[in-house]
Amino acid sequence: WFDEIGAQPPIEVFEMNKAFLDDTDPIKVSLGIGAFRTEEGKPWVLPVVKQAEKAIVEDPAMNFEYLPILGLESFTNAATRMLVGADSAAWQEKRAFGVQSISGTGALRIAADFLSTVVPNITKIVYISNPTWENHRLLFLLAGFNEVREYRYWDAQKRGLDLQGLVEDLHAAPERSVVILHACAHNPTGVDPTQEQWKKIVEVVKERKLFPVLDSAYQGFASGDPDADAWAVRYFVSQGVEFVCAQSFAKNFGLYNQRVGNLTVVTNNAATIPNLKSQLTIVVRGNYSNPPAHGARIVSAVLNDPTLTEQWKGHIQTMSGRMKAMRGLLREKLEALKTPGSWKHLTDQIGMFAYTGLTVKQCQFLIDRHHIYLLKSGRINVCGISPKNVDHVSKAIYEAVTT
Ligand code: PMP
Repeated sequence: WFDEIGAQPPIEVFEMNKAFLDDTDPIKVSLGIGAFRTEEGKPWVLPVVKQAEKAIVEDPAMNFEYLPILGLESFTNAATRMLVGADSAAWQEKRAFGVQSISGTGALRIAADFLSTVVPNITKIVYISNPTWENHRLLFLLAGFNEVREYRYWDAQKRGLDLQGLVEDLHAAPERSVVILHACAHNPTGVDPTQEQWKKIVEVVKERKLFPVLDSAYQGFASGDPDADAWAVRYFVSQGVEFVCAQSFAKNFGLYNQRVGNLTVVTNNAATIPNLKSQLTIVVRGNYSNPPAHGARIVSAVLNDPTLTEQWKGHIQTMSGRMKAMRGLLREKLEALKTPGSWKHLTDQIGMFAYTGLTVKQCQFLIDRHHIYLLKSGRINVCGISPKNVDHVSKAIYEAVTT
């Protein structure tokens, strides 16, 4: 059975992380994997998460019974409310609900399966931004989509959004195609549409009758305020657009390996919800039957308690503040070294990632010569920068650009 099977290429970001972990040089720096790091380069367990977890573990009534197929309701409700906003029409009119998922990736897969097998007359063509998080393509192809098309997003010349290209490409899309849009803190470019630009995007989505799959993996990381970061999602709601949105709690709760996610569904007709839930039940049942409980219990405990929610918002400020500070510091050092080119984009971009504009060759140079690990696209996780390693990193980038 197995002799004829060849190998697939490795997944770059995980391969890179392994190379980083295996590297024994103390000077090594990880700018690869998308996880928050403290100034000491260490993972951070959010204090509010620790506190909530302690209460859950010590609760004598806690057990390991199965969750319902669609997940822990106190969690899915809280996650959905955090996204669409308690004051939104969709929430008030009970037109929004959530399905618990295996983190953001699992939410996208539920969305892809649902669109592919349940929603009538979908073209099975999905539009993804160029560039995007590389897993979007694979997820939709494995769910039975026939074609993945890219819409223009990144303008390398101006190191910003190519709105005209984006709108043109979506305009040319066949009706009833699917379009994936990053809700905030676009990965990998760190460039989001402005509110005015979102309005144009929503216009073309409506006009071409495209089905939006929003991807919200970084709510809170763009501006430091989870409500402000949900602006685009809430704008879709306000315009009466039906959509699904994949939410990840990996980054904003630091719950990476707990795999906590939610697929929010917004419908214009609350009467459709029982049928939608029954269909989504089949999708989940046929994938993994029901989700894990631990991480969802933690997020639920935090989001359903105003005091804990405030503490969590403070942690979001800490994380997004550090990212912002490190962008500024790296730019300052590169400019002080008179590194050729403009480095303004480092501070114009937002969120966890900076799209540096470094070439594949320059990235390889940083890895091979300076033990600085980053993706070949030139994407860096700004959390990997610290006041202790910024001189090393900036000098290495200077060398990479000038040799
Ligand atoms: N979407 C985007 C754009 C992402 O960057 C990520 C995380 N790298 C995800 C979804 C999903 O991540 P997770 O499954 O860990 O929640």
